[in-house]
Amino acid sequence: MSPPVIPPVIPPVIPPVIPPVIPPVIPVFDGHNDILLKLLRLPAEARDAAWLEGNGSGHLDLPRMQRGGFAGGFFAIYIPSPHNGVDYDTLMDTPPYDVALPDLIGAEAAQPTALAMAGILLRMERISGGAFRVCRSAAEVRAAVAAGTVAAIMHLEGAEPIGPDLDALHAFHAMGLRSLGPVWSRPTIFGHGVPFRFPGSPDTGPGLTDLGRALVRECNALGVMIDLSHLNEAGFNDVAALSDAPLVATHSNAHALTASTRNLTDRQLAMIADSNGMVGLNFATVFLRPDGRQSADMTWDPVLRHMDHLLERLGEDRLGFGSDFDGATVPQGIGDVAGLPALLDALRAHGYSEPLLQKLAHENWLALLDRTLK
Ligand code: ZN
Repeated sequence: MSPPVIPPVIPPVIPPVIPPVIPPVIPVFDGHNDILLKLLRLPAEARDAAWLEGNGSGHLDLPRMQRGGFAGGFFAIYIPSPHNGVDYDTLMDTPPYDVALPDLIGAEAAQPTALAMAGILLRMERISGGAFRVCRSAAEVRAAVAAGTVAAIMHLEGAEPIGPDLDALHAFHAMGLRSLGPVWSRPTIFGHGVPFRFPGSPDTGPGLTDLGRALVRECNALGVMIDLSHLNEAGFNDVAALSDAPLVATHSNAHALTASTRNLTDRQLAMIADSNGMVGLNFATVFLRPDGRQSADMTWDPVLRHMDHLLERLGEDRLGFGSDFDGATVPQGIGDVAGLPALLDALRAHGYSEPLLQKLAHENWLALLDRTLK
């Protein structure tokens, strides 16, 4: 007799639980922000809370940075212009416009403000409980980003606090300064910036002065990155001829699409690409919209067109973001720093691959810092 055949027990089929595919938040390293100016303008006793908790104003604070995947960036020290009664918001929302530049501000007038802003940045680090670090080398930036610590680079937007002897450059370098624009749009003893004009060419006047050339050489020697974003075309050419570092425009867009003086011509983009440099896409609506208006009421289309054009001219290893958060009106789709994932989603929907998004979001900036900082 053979034993009875026992039918095998077939377990019920339980469909595997497939989690929805949610791409992880991609860390974003950013070419330019003005949070230091926002905090400077607050009463001193209100600054800590505005940084650590947020007060709802502007684009940046620590909680919103963490929500948006903001991994770090360049934090600008900028000397505000004296008030001249001009309503810039109205002016820049009704192109064509041509904003007159204020006069040169001397180092003795600029230094107290610059010191205060450097101090605010260093205090932001001290009170952050390890969540925020002022970095002085590419290795420090990489370590901070890997640890989920927001990595800051101290940047000087306009070299007004540096006098003709350049001594203050060394003092600011010791405080952590690793990036500098010889000019914001005002003239300095080092060169001439572009006035805000639309439509207009970046070829607006003379280039670097002899002191400007000395400043570029000293920055090269110290490993301080030189930012071309507010220089006019002649100054851009002078830096290109003199500097031994890659050419970098931290927060500028394509002049072929938005004819602002602040945007880069295809010729300038080719020079940046040749130097293995970098451009950060500026989110300022005035540099994105084809009509040059300031209004935030716009679709993603101009953002995508600028990204496509810059990618075509620079290649995929030399483009990133340069938000201008807390210094400009940005598209409603971005809103503030917590909107960075929405920007990446728009680029993803436009057909950008995940590896390309990683490059644009942070890998390209980190690689540029490897090539630039000493
Ligand atoms: Zn700027």
